[in-house]
Amino acid sequence: MKSYDVIIVGAGMAGMTLALALKSGGLEVALIERQPFDDMLDVSFDGRASAIAYACFRQWKALGVGDVLEKHACRMDEIFVTDGHLPGASAPRPLPFFLHFASDEISDRTGDEPLGYMVENRQVRKALYEEVTRQEIRLITPATVAERRDNGAFSELDLDTGETLRAPLIVSAEGRKSTLREKAGIKNINWSYDQSAVVCTVQLDHSHNHVAYEHFLPTGPFAILPLNGNRACIVWSETHAKAKALMQVDDQLFHDHLLARFGEFLGNITLVGPKFIYPLGLGLAEEMYKGRLALLADSAHGIHPIAGQGLNLGLKDVAALAEVLIEATRLGEDIGTDLVLERYAKWRRFDNVSTSVVMDGFVRLFSNGNPLLRLARGVGIGLFNRVPALRTFVMEDAGAATGDLPKLLRGELV
Ligand SMILES: Cc1cc2nc3c(=O)[nH]c(=O)nc-3n(C[C@H](O)[C@H](O)[C@H](O)COP(=O)(O)OP(=O)(O)OC[C@H]3O[C@@H](n4cnc5c(N)ncnc54)[C@H](O)[C@@H]3O)c2cc1C
Repeated sequence: MKSYDVIIVGAGMAGMTLALALKSGGLEVALIERQPFDDMLDVSFDGRASAIAYACFRQWKALGVGDVLEKHACRMDEIFVTDGHLPGASAPRPLPFFLHFASDEISDRTGDEPLGYMVENRQVRKALYEEVTRQEIRLITPATVAERRDNGAFSELDLDTGETLRAPLIVSAEGRKSTLREKAGIKNINWSYDQSAVVCTVQLDHSHNHVAYEHFLPTGPFAILPLNGNRACIVWSETHAKAKALMQVDDQLFHDHLLARFGEFLGNITLVGPKFIYPLGLGLAEEMYKGRLALLADSAHGIHPIAGQGLNLGLKDVAALAEVLIEATRLGEDIGTDLVLERYAKWRRFDNVSTSVVMDGFVRLFSNGNPLLRLARGVGIGLFNRVPALRTFVMEDAGAATGDLPKLLRGELV
């Protein structure tokens, strides 16, 4: 039976980042992924791009994928947030009440870093996969876990390929529908919003100037997120029924509906590539570990993309878990024990739970057309925008740069 220090189940963006982080600290790791990698790198697999907080991007730089990803990443230097928008024209003429964030307001602490980077998920997966392969981390795919059992100082995994592996710690990076979490009896609170996100990429006539726009509309948020090549990723949340209808209309009709929401301030827009749809919901595991199993990223917490924080939370989990495990290994501790895993949970629990609750509150507060509530929201946004200290805190918090930062989020290896 082959032994590893850690076996990670799920080679998504979080799982692969953890594998690289642990390897950089000298641990021997195996990754198990149920989908063939060629499928996961195909353009039809995932049409999303992610807003990556600047501190999370530092982690990728430290782990050796920064140079490759920088070629595909678009800086986000400003963000405009409005509650609704003027008919037919989103921004740059925002409603009287708006929020404006700009990277130069925090540049005394961040130097030349932007508020975040927009990168297509496909490019992130490809860069991580190539680095995992280059570093000869064992990636077993397509494979999944038939059975897991804790046995003394190890947890053993029977794979559906017939192989059995063991490690003192198994990490579930399986995403929202983690089977290991369920089989371990960890309860997962979850509900669905009556919203799906329609995601597509558009080519713009005029330069986006590295500005991101988010408009809270009664049926859900509508975001225009800058991509390199003067493109933008659209995340358009609608009720399930409307989102499904948008997926079915032809490209011309879709373009017309999109332009009505988008406005013409960036000239004409041209749809490039396919449309994608993602049902939206919340999931929060009641525990971050049990026995020799630890939960990571969406497996522990899946949130609405209203502020682009889902993967960032997962990448913060990676940085904290890697630091705890590498240091515990150097001290000769058993990394699969409660004593060690509680340090990880303690580091991440508050941020994960509070962010999930706040994002859930935002979805409920903003996906609502009640005129009184809209007025109150508008005034609140306007007041918030007038307090620079609050805006600075939000920019740094969304940049994953507040609190007790793990080394990787400071751009250092453990
Ligand atoms: C529309 C939308 C926009 C978003 N935008 C942003 C954004 O701008 N910024 C941001 O930070 N976040 C964003 N998010 C959230 C982000 O996409 C997720 O948080 C992130 O993808 C989670 O990554 P993960 O690696 O935890 O899970 P996943 O991406 O779900 O990966 C899990 C992997 O595990 C594999 N797997 C599952 N079960 C098993 C098993 N039993 N055995 C083996 N393998 C298994 C799967 O095949 C998969 O490859 C967005 C989400 C949506 C829906």
